[in-house]
Amino acid sequence: MIEDNTEGIRPFLNSGSGSNIVITTHHKPDADALGSSLALYHYLVKLGKKVTVVTPTDYPVNLHWMPGNDTVINFEAEAEKAASLVEAADLIFCLDFNDLSRINDLGLLVEKSDAKTIMIDHHRDPSGFDDYRFWTIETSSTSELIYDFIKSNDGAELIDTDIASCMYAGIIADTGSFRYSSTTSHTHRIAAELIDLGVDSAKIHALLLDNFSLNRYRLMGYVLYKKLTVYPELKTALVSLTQEELMKFNIQTGDTEGFVNFGLGIKGIVFSALIIDRSVMVKMSFRSQGRFPCNEFANAHFNGGGHLNAAGGSSKESLETVLEKFKNVLPTYKDLLLTSYSNEN
Ligand code: 5GP
Ligand code: MN
Repeated sequence: MIEDNTEGIRPFLNSGSGSNIVITTHHKPDADALGSSLALYHYLVKLGKKVTVVTPTDYPVNLHWMPGNDTVINFEAEAEKAASLVEAADLIFCLDFNDLSRINDLGLLVEKSDAKTIMIDHHRDPSGFDDYRFWTIETSSTSELIYDFIKSNDGAELIDTDIASCMYAGIIADTGSFRYSSTTSHTHRIAAELIDLGVDSAKIHALLLDNFSLNRYRLMGYVLYKKLTVYPELKTALVSLTQEELMKFNIQTGDTEGFVNFGLGIKGIVFSALIIDRSVMVKMSFRSQGRFPCNEFANAHFNGGGHLNAAGGSSKESLETVLEKFKNVLPTYKDLLLTSYSNEN
């Protein structure tokens, strides 16, 4: 069930030209964050709105092919321009996040702005900053929700190949190409409709997944050979990376995407963690099989959240301190880890 109180804002959306809209999404946007934002961007432009996507940070180069990428304003790179857009906005869409802390200092501007906010998101426990919401955790992705949102606004006929491609990219990224448990028959039906609208599935897969630097693969080799640690008695895998290691391989935004999944591919492992020293903070990614709650783990110990099987967190402490904490708290979850799920049977 989608929690939807956007009825009151629909007349404004459908009133034609003459309003300023900002769409923003979370820190280091991934394909769902950017894909849902640009899909909504193209739709609102078709409704006659003046729209800008403002991201809190940069994002991986394998997302730069998305139609509309050249219109996106990165707050870190163009802070003044981003601030004036937020200030002038009548309406701010917040996509793929539900707590303003996920958009860094841009959150302060959104909070100060007179604009109404509308959150479209699929993460647990919204903080409640929003005026309007179109929200559920029972969906594969924010891109799937954007499809539902456009459809509920009688806008299906406005979905063209560009809009469809952005949404399709978000859906395949957040479902691991329809593998994860969040994938439903509704997800597949939407994907089928998007293909009917001209999406080239093989091409989008290649643009997203076969579009990385050689450095990423060198680092991947190093991680698999030297850095992947397994704790079989806790069914857990861990990879940590220092700043020096990132520098040695000249790692750019997005180059470590997916590394957290390596551990889960090992027979018997139900929980995998990737902990990276990103200099401004230590960033963590968690993935699990079965019912081990990554989001509760991230929230309880690492100031984070997310979904049951995919979550993240961050810390201002040193990498050593974070690793020590991780290793200390992990055994307290032993029972849950051992009963969560077994890929041995
Ligand atoms: P990733 O590991 O791919 O960065 O993130 C996995 C999931 O966890 C995403 O749904 C993302 O929104 C959520 N997530 C990642 N980092 C954080 C964080 O620091 N705080 C919260 N609340 N959620 C996070
Ligand atoms: Mn998402």
